[in-house]
Amino acid sequence: MKVTVFGAAGAVTGSCHLVEAAGKRLLLDCGMIQGSKVEEAKNALPFDFDVKSIDAVILSHAHIDHCGRLPVLAQYGYHGPIYTHRATADLLPVMLEDAASLAEMDAERRNRFHKDGHNHHKPLFTRHDVGQVVRQLERLDYRKPLTLFPGVTVTLQDAGHILGSASVRIVTEDAGETRTLVFSGDIGPLNTPILADPDPFPSADLVLMESTYGGRLHRERAATVQEMGEIFDAAWKAGGNILIPAFAVGRSQELLYWFAKHYEDWNLGRWRIFMDSPMASKVIEVYDRHEELFDDDAKVMFHGKPHPFHLPNLKYTTDVEDSKAINEHNGGCIIIAGSGMCNGGRIRHHLRHNLGSAKNHILFVGYQSVGTLGRLLVDGIDSVKLFGDDIKIKAHRHTIGGLSAHTDQAGLLEWYGAYSGHPRIALVHGEDDARKACALALKMRFDVDAQIPAYAETLSV
Ligand SMILES: [Zn+2]
Repeated sequence: MKVTVFGAAGAVTGSCHLVEAAGKRLLLDCGMIQGSKVEEAKNALPFDFDVKSIDAVILSHAHIDHCGRLPVLAQYGYHGPIYTHRATADLLPVMLEDAASLAEMDAERRNRFHKDGHNHHKPLFTRHDVGQVVRQLERLDYRKPLTLFPGVTVTLQDAGHILGSASVRIVTEDAGETRTLVFSGDIGPLNTPILADPDPFPSADLVLMESTYGGRLHRERAATVQEMGEIFDAAWKAGGNILIPAFAVGRSQELLYWFAKHYEDWNLGRWRIFMDSPMASKVIEVYDRHEELFDDDAKVMFHGKPHPFHLPNLKYTTDVEDSKAINEHNGGCIIIAGSGMCNGGRIRHHLRHNLGSAKNHILFVGYQSVGTLGRLLVDGIDSVKLFGDDIKIKAHRHTIGGLSAHTDQAGLLEWYGAYSGHPRIALVHGEDDARKACALALKMRFDVDAQIPAYAETLSV
């Protein structure tokens, strides 16, 4: 078996790996690169492997940095099966259609600058391409192995990261030799609200593991929750707004869970709460349809009051006009909007209206990739240009680490520690500092030498 890393080598986006074994070529994930404009331009470049020779695609979960180039793969001629968990198959059209309409709008906006009537800028993909991808989906359940081809069997197990997220095991038999690869996907922390805990496989010949927070320990969730309560209180007393950039899938639902849980002690009834994301209500419908995947705590919570997705003062805004109207309120609003890293979407309009005042608070509740506006804000830039306005930043910025959808170094070590005999491991999906820190921790704890593959490096298993 050969595994070649075609993405997320030294970065946390663009997940994509090619597996060759038993005469077949399988692609694990086909994610979009997110970050600076220069980095994102790479999404439109041809793939560095022969697309038409791919026999099957296996998708770990519905985040755009894992699935966002599937329509491009289809444009380049891959029309074969895409195997994924059935909840991911339900989330995928929502994610990709949103990305397509953003890309279409962006291309249209850029073409307006050209007066010669030609469309110089084409969207990365369109809703038509998304329709093609959706027709290719094949739905799997957790813990039910499926033989894709003679000698190639795939099993998904819960990765506890977002609804439908999976770690993937590929077992191949080739000339009497059995080889097992496990790809972690993105691994969630233990006790993530709503979701079940990550479910590692018992053994592997090679573990390809994410390492987003390989160099960090998260704050205790209890301390994080307390901190959020304190920020809400301070913002209310100052008469300000609270902005929370959040991915429409995962974090937005988790925030609503915490709001419902602490509705009384955070005195949330006095706020206007907006879920300002056209995707959010669609995603919430998908979550509602898959309650059987929730953990026990969430199953109880979603049958009590207040229901996390139907808080009495929660408004889902889908129309642009409703979204704009939020900015008429000078205070008293909690606004959850995408994108999670502030590199697009409605959050940028809210930032423009709110960054300039010290009474407002911005809560960062997820990973901010290098090159994104979110990362610049977290790193402390003091002014920003948004929609032509130069804004001196006075709003308070908070990084709420304990709510991450990715587990931390301790969680990664625990997940890997479940594999018997501490098998060979290679680290992907982490910036290089995180990968190195994770490798060091693995060495100290398990005396294993983790590999840190470069882009296009092949690992023989
Ligand atoms: Zn993810």
